[in-house]
Amino acid sequence: MSSISKPVFFTFKPPACPVCGKPAYSRGGVHPQCAVSRADKARQPKAEPRKPKAVAPSPWKKTCPRCNRQVAARRFACDCGHTFERTAAAAAGG
Ligand SMILES: [Zn+2]
Ligand SMILES: [Zn+2]
Repeated sequence: MSSISKPVFFTFKPPACPVCGKPAYSRGGVHPQCAVSRADKARQPKAEPRKPKAVAPSPWKKTCPRCNRQVAARRFACDCGHTFERTAAAAAGG
């Protein structure tokens, strides 16, 4: 009695990594590092729509509260007759 059993050669084909396409022997069929990179790609930050930038007033000009006209900052009086207070525009900022 002799039972000859051939060694079984079953071609084990590892699943191809869906990220890099190379055979992945790890669980899930995805390389851990590939899974991470894929998760990164899937979680791309949404690009926020750019808000229209408001027209910034020129630092060299100030707006006359009376006639709403742009007046040179160094001027202390507007053409309309409005006189600006002494609080210089230099105080602006911060
Ligand atoms: Zn991979
Ligand atoms: Zn004015």
